[in-house]
Amino acid sequence: MARTPIMAGNWKMNLDHLEAAHLVQSLAWNLKDASHDYSQVEVVVVPPFTDIRTVQSLVESDELSIRYGAQDVSIHDEGAYTGEISTGMLNKLGVTYVVVGHSERREYHNESNELVGQKAKKVLDAGMTPIMCCGEALEIRKAGQHVSYVLGQIDAMLANLTAEEVAKSVIAYEPIWAIGTGEVATPEDAQEVCGAIRNRISELFDGPVAEAVRIQYGGSVKSSNVREIMAKPDVDGALVGGASLKADEFTKIATYLK
Ligand code: PEP
Repeated sequence: MARTPIMAGNWKMNLDHLEAAHLVQSLAWNLKDASHDYSQVEVVVVPPFTDIRTVQSLVESDELSIRYGAQDVSIHDEGAYTGEISTGMLNKLGVTYVVVGHSERREYHNESNELVGQKAKKVLDAGMTPIMCCGEALEIRKAGQHVSYVLGQIDAMLANLTAEEVAKSVIAYEPIWAIGTGEVATPEDAQEVCGAIRNRISELFDGPVAEAVRIQYGGSVKSSNVREIMAKPDVDGALVGGASLKADEFTKIATYLK
């Protein structure tokens, strides 16, 4: 089964709703100008919660093919959880993707693999698609334990998901040492871990599930390195931080096939 590549821009805590409107309009215009075929490469923006309503309005009124996501979600449905946002709230805003377990959430909010797995399940139950992040810190890479470490994260995150759920999910392999550092993993590094993740999914579930799941690489992806990374057989897209904040740069990343 052919997997549609997915380029997702994680804006992190950047851009207010006015800036968000500007970026989405510029991106949509650029992609139109480049005659971008969204069925060949999916384009997703992942703004802060406060921008989502604005992005939704633009996407709906201008009938844009850009999809949008959220950067996190609660495992609770409603109630006394100050500061949290539920899957129901995101669903109402037309959100397609929800990033769960980004390394910054794991580091600054102590999120465990088990919690990330629970979040992924909530997202799937609500009819949206999780982008489940995993990746090792520099010490683990230096010790040569990156593959087993990431596979441990995968085992724990997927423990309560069905084969069908995994098949429609997205996994983002993001070595922490390459995020926001300008230090990009080599295409071979990306392939080594993305390939190992796919093999593990084939063992945990079956071959068709492993063939269906999309696996992104993330970590200092730019227009200058995206092509060589995307040329690797088990890399199905990129989760892009810094470079997704510039319309021209993110357009070049999304149109890497041209
Ligand atoms: C990220 O935040 O997911 C990311 C990959 O950031 P950057 O592209 O800036 O390294």
